[in-house]
Order: sequence, then C-alpha cells, then structure tokens
Amino acid sequence: MAGDNPRDLLYRCALQNAVKHGGIPQSGAVISMVMGAHPEFRTRAKEIAAIAKEVIAEVATLSPDQRCSKLGEIAPDMIAALSEKHEHKKVLPDLEDAENGVVMRFAPNPSGPLHIGHARAAVLNDAYVRQYGGRYILRIEDTDPKRVDPDAYEMVKEDIAWLGLCISETVTQSDRLHLYYDLCRQLIERGGAYICTCDNEHFKELKIAKIACPCRDHSVETNLDLWEKMIDHRFAEGEASVRVKTDLNHPDPAMRDFPAFRILDSPPHPKVEAHVYPLMNFSVVADDHLLGVTHVIRGKDHIANTRRQRYIYDYFGWKVPIYRHYGRMGIEGVVLSTSQMRRGIQEGSYTGWDDIRLGTLRALARRGILPDAVKNATLAIGIGETDISFSWDNLYAENKKLIDSIANRYFFVPNPAEFRIEGAPTRTAHAMLHPADASRGSRELTFTGTVVLPRSELTQNITMLRLKDLFNVKVAWNGDIPQLVYAGDALADARAAKSSIIQWLPVQETFVCTLRTQSGDVHGVCEPVVKRELGNVVQFERVGFARIDSLGDNNIMAYFTHK
Ligand code: GLU
Repeated sequence: MAGDNPRDLLYRCALQNAVKHGGIPQSGAVISMVMGAHPEFRTRAKEIAAIAKEVIAEVATLSPDQRCSKLGEIAPDMIAALSEKHEHKKVLPDLEDAENGVVMRFAPNPSGPLHIGHARAAVLNDAYVRQYGGRYILRIEDTDPKRVDPDAYEMVKEDIAWLGLCISETVTQSDRLHLYYDLCRQLIERGGAYICTCDNEHFKELKIAKIACPCRDHSVETNLDLWEKMIDHRFAEGEASVRVKTDLNHPDPAMRDFPAFRILDSPPHPKVEAHVYPLMNFSVVADDHLLGVTHVIRGKDHIANTRRQRYIYDYFGWKVPIYRHYGRMGIEGVVLSTSQMRRGIQEGSYTGWDDIRLGTLRALARRGILPDAVKNATLAIGIGETDISFSWDNLYAENKKLIDSIANRYFFVPNPAEFRIEGAPTRTAHAMLHPADASRGSRELTFTGTVVLPRSELTQNITMLRLKDLFNVKVAWNGDIPQLVYAGDALADARAAKSSIIQWLPVQETFVCTLRTQSGDVHGVCEPVVKRELGNVVQFERVGFARIDSLGDNNIMAYFTHK
C-alpha cells in the first residue's frame, strides 16, 4: 500500500469493510485499519476522519454487487483477505495454480429461480474466489429458448443477492451470439466443425455404427457457405446443424461428432431475435475462454461435457481451465423440478415460487433459513466426488446456530382448548424474551382464572403439569374430563414429578395464529405481542422456530422454520 494517498486507502478499506459485513462501512474499523497499516497518518487523525466520512458516504450509495465488483477491480487481494477471517470454518481443499488469483463463474440457466441444488455451485465457486482473490462472473446461460423463463433473469439476480455472492460482473449469453458465430466460423476454418444436413435419426444410426455421415467430408469452403445459409435463415429448423469433428471410434457414442449449433424457429427468444443457437458445450467453452475463466467447479453430471469441450479447446489451442467435479447430491422432501413447480403454481396447488414445499432459495428464505446457513451447510458438504444425499438436519443445525441467539421466545398454543384452574391466585408471569439475555426483557402474561393449553397435552395418564413461568397444576380425571387445580409454585416439585412444562396463554390474551408447515397448516393462538415481530424469526417455545410472515387484522401467519 506504500505511496497510496489516504483517500484511496480509505476507499479500499471502506469497500472491504462493507463487503465483509454486508452493510454500511463501520467508520471506526475503517480508520483503524488505515492507521494500522500507516502509523504515519496518526498525526493527521482529524483530516483522516473527515475523509473517511466522505468515503463511507460514497460507498454507502453502492449496491452490494457494485461493492464486490469495485473491490475486485481495484484491490483483488482484499477480497482474498476476507476469507482469512471468514465465518466459514471448514476450509475447502486447495486448487492448483490458484495462488495468483482465480477467475470463476456461476452459470445458471434462467429457467426459474435458484434452488438448493444450484447453491452448491454458486457457493463453492464464490468461496474459492474469496479464498484466492480474483473475479467472480455470473453468466446467464440463456441460449436454449425452450428453457428460458423471462422472469427468471430477475429472480436469479435476487437469489444471488440474497445469498450474498461476491459477483464482480454479469454476462448474458443471448447478448453474445455474434461472438459465438465468429468463433464458429473460425472453428470451421480450422477444420474442427462441419455443417450437417443429415436427418437426425439417420445421423444417429451412422454414429452408433461409427460411420462418417456424408457431410463430414465437406470442404471448408462448402461448410462456410452452408454456415452463411444457416445464419441467413435459408435452412429451417431441423434441416442443418453444426457438428464438432471428434473421433468416430470413440468408445462413448456421445462423444462422436456432437452438435455445436442448431436452428430453432420457435419458441421466440425473449431477449433476441435469433434463428441459430449455440448448444451448451460450444457457448460454455467460448465464454470460459473469452472471460478468462481459470477454474471451474461443477457437478459430476458435467464430466462428459468436459470431455466434449476439450475437443474445442484443442482445435483453438486454448488453455483449458482447471476443473473439479463434485458428486451428485440427492435432495429429498421438497420439489425441485422447475416444470413441476411452474405447473403447480399455475394450477394453484403452490402459492408461488416461495411455497414452503419447494426447494427454492426463496422458499427457504420465507421459512426463516438464513443465507449464511445455506452457505455454511454447502461448504461443509464441500467438493467431494462421492454421491451424497443433502442433509436437511445439517442445514437446520447451521441455521439454528445463527438464529438461536437472535430469535425472541413466545408462546404459541396449537389446537388450543380452554381450562379453568381452580384455587389459583391471580398472578402475572414474566416470561423472558430470551433465556440467555435478560437485558431483552420479558413478556407479561396475566393469569386470572382460565387459560388455553394445547389440547394434545391433556391425555388421560397426565396427573400433573407445570405452566411455564407460572405454577404447577394437578390434573384429576372425571371420566374423560380433566379438572385442573392449582398445585403450588415450586419448579422443583414439577421436576420431581417429571411433569411436562408446557406453554399456555391467558384466555383473554390470545391472538389467532396459523403455523404453516411443509405438511400443512397448524391452527392455534399466540401472544398478541408477536405482531411486532413481522419478518423476524421467533421461537415458539416447545414448538420450534418460525418466521412471522404476515399480519391480518385478526390473525398472524407464521412459517415453520425447524425445531
Ligand atoms: N448452465 C449449465 C448448467 O446449469 C452450467 C454449465 C457449466 O457449469 O459448465 O448446468
């Protein structure tokens, strides 16, 4: 940093601080970082503080994405430095040739919002960019109009912002068709591709029999003419395609002369007018090369593509990125198929892309799963090649670590029933908002004779219960009708009798609350003060964590997070 002027230094430190904490830079931290590196500025403290103020105001106007990309541009080493003290405990294995920084990408298809399966590629690539410094490119792969949902462009960006990825630039492949066309021409000139006008089925038969189709021997000139014809709309859909010349004797038929471009007349593309589209293997190689991608972390399902793509690299003489292919990950218990989700939303069986039964990131967010829990759980899974099944329990455990100390506690009584308690004094219970933090204060619940309790707690073998933060009650049974009688205040008595300590509410202090879970809605009542927690995650004692999703005039809707 020697020779830097204080303004530039402060700007860089403010950016790094904002990226690290995901908010407005903290003035004290920024100034001490600069003073730490440059003790000679200590005599100019007033001046430095004034510049810091200006710089922080400037950084505050940038979006999180702009902050990452600016920092990546002016001080990539400072992005790398972030990972040193990063909250992620599990460090990923080293990548070869990464010491001088990396360029990596996340390349989703805009066919719907991101789901938990996408998070793996997104988070792992992000973590490596943070580890080594460099650039992280978001590449929207929209060259298959059959798999483009116009709304997904925005949704994918929102999901990435939610995850807090450090994206330094975004490219959209449909903006880049001219680049792929140019490279196709060059590949033809190098003898690496030909235009095939064979019927698809016929080509398949020849390929299986390891026989060259008649088009394979076209001269470069003929191929270039046919290519221009393709581009000029003089072929219709299915009449011509571009194939990469590989090895017809390759043991895997899928490697033999695979397609690189095709013609599609419909559906129209929502962003460009096009007739000829590159297939994934071509556009991925073109962009990985043009964007200078050095390392690619992707799933094992791309291994065959990596082999195909190698042919294109070899024809051009380009450096091949370093690949890591992680194992497959089975994800149970939620819907992940975009077409199934879309159908369900259209038919009204799902409320939207954030329906609690779906595996989208927005559904997780709605339930109160924090982005850092997704990140930490994903990093713990890592880049291993072994196939695994995704553990919801691990994700919930990561989330619990983050929310347990934040979430205030309240009573929610599912399937409530009213009970009069005989012989009990009127009493106000002071129930702590958080058991480990008395400074947050407590909720006051005034008992005046009748309470609501979870109906399921009053089963015939129950003889004693403790109402949490209040007192003990004896339960006597008159046939199948329970009679509740005050039985003293001592917690030790309840413990000795091994009684359940249950949530309750004064009958006059209840507010209707629906707890939406993946297996259906649970109807109940909660404390009226829960209304002030809109958008927050709370813990309903003995039930689990829940995010307060919406408020009506007479009811609260809460989404169940996990136990
Ligand atoms: N768009 C591709 C996919 O989502 C990714 C391509 C790649 O990672 O090379 O499967």
